[in-house]
Amino acid sequence: MSSTAVSPDVMAKYEPVIGLEVHVQLATRTKIFCACPTSFGAPPNTNVCPVCLGLPGALPVLNRQVVELAIQSGLALNCQIRQESIFARKNYFYPDLPKGYQISQYDRPVAEHGWVDIRLPDGREKRIGVTRAHLEDDAGKSMHEGFRDSEHYTYVDLNRTGTPLVEIVSEPDMRSSEEAYAYLTELKLLMQFCGVSTCDMEKGHLRCDANVSVRLRGAEKFGTKAEVKNLNSFRFLKMALDYEIQRQIALLESGGKVVQETRLYNPDLDETISMRSKEHAHDYRYFPEPDLLPLRISDGWLAEIRSAMPELPPVKRKRFITEYGLREYDADVLTATRDLSAYFDEVVKVSGDARQSANWVMGDLAGLLKANNKEVAESPVSAANLGELVKFIAKGDISNKIAKDVLEKMYETGETATAIIDREGLRQISDTSALDKIVDEVIAANPKQVEQYRSGKTQVIGFLVGQVMKASKGQANPPMVNEMLRAKLG
Ligand SMILES: [Zn+2]
Repeated sequence: MSSTAVSPDVMAKYEPVIGLEVHVQLATRTKIFCACPTSFGAPPNTNVCPVCLGLPGALPVLNRQVVELAIQSGLALNCQIRQESIFARKNYFYPDLPKGYQISQYDRPVAEHGWVDIRLPDGREKRIGVTRAHLEDDAGKSMHEGFRDSEHYTYVDLNRTGTPLVEIVSEPDMRSSEEAYAYLTELKLLMQFCGVSTCDMEKGHLRCDANVSVRLRGAEKFGTKAEVKNLNSFRFLKMALDYEIQRQIALLESGGKVVQETRLYNPDLDETISMRSKEHAHDYRYFPEPDLLPLRISDGWLAEIRSAMPELPPVKRKRFITEYGLREYDADVLTATRDLSAYFDEVVKVSGDARQSANWVMGDLAGLLKANNKEVAESPVSAANLGELVKFIAKGDISNKIAKDVLEKMYETGETATAIIDREGLRQISDTSALDKIVDEVIAANPKQVEQYRSGKTQVIGFLVGQVMKASKGQANPPMVNEMLRAKLG
């Protein structure tokens, strides 16, 4: 970092311009042009066939589900769906690309002209343009390390070859690493919500490259960009962009020129290194794929997919705020995953109290799940059962304190709230006649405190309420006890 350190004043003279290219692995069971499984972790070169190995005479057949997922991702990105798109060959040589070309889409991608609204840490919203989303097949994997003779050889695993990807290309609309981070976060959420991809970055289901340039603030023309690859975690994305922005500014400040090239981010050194000079589109000799027909999407098919789209996070967040009266922060947390938001919706439906539901889902339930290393989808307490518990609390039938214990028991046993509360006789006593007797007993047993209260030390009421709670084994309704004591003493 030190070699490129630039003072904040100098940094502020420049404006970074960032565009992202994100590869999302579509969640199909089989590959895009053959029936091989897409499962992760199989022994090397076992999920392969003549088609994905590129053997002579083997012909691709397009997987219908891949197209559906691509359309869904396009719709989630507010894109226009092209009703006729064309596959194109992108020609290059690499050992993990047995066909010698990638089947991609070029001038007629399946989706284009969309956008993603991102939210910045300061609360502002910004719209980032999505240029296009196109289908393509993945290459295999070159393995440069981990083998006894890795010093001399690189191994190739072709299991991944032919895995369906959608590549989402943004407009160069981002102006900081924070904006890029927010964009990738929202993109991931959208893809997960519509079930297009798991976006598991550790398994390579979401991969990100960035085009980065800088220009003097106020300048209209973009600077020369470098493409930074290998940004395969959110942390690396931010670190790599910050590094690359500084590097380019330092270079320009020292009288140098940014070269158009592809750079690789090395997280161990926290720097980007030059990999190769940037190739241009014409280098790939794109031409229409002769083995595949144009992809035609009928009105009916498109309408069917559109009507089956789930409610997406931006709409859900707004609904949680306007309809449920949640705070923005809570709405964000509760829409962090599709499972969590669906769970929460169900709790509210049963309990009828959105705020209490939010508190219990985000508080005690989340705590129990975390302590047991479980996701909400694996919760032993179903949403309906938690909703029932929240309903008891909202009606004042049980106190918060007792509800915590009940929830723990529900978590352990999977029993319903009603079963536990009835068996253990935990309903809060809100019945005045039942409380009357206990309140009278407490007054009789504590003449000193009663005297103090009557002589003006009214805060002693807290002690008396505590005594009633104790005598009722925590089942009395505290506001009611408070009211009764005041009436009797005053
Ligand atoms: Zn295959």
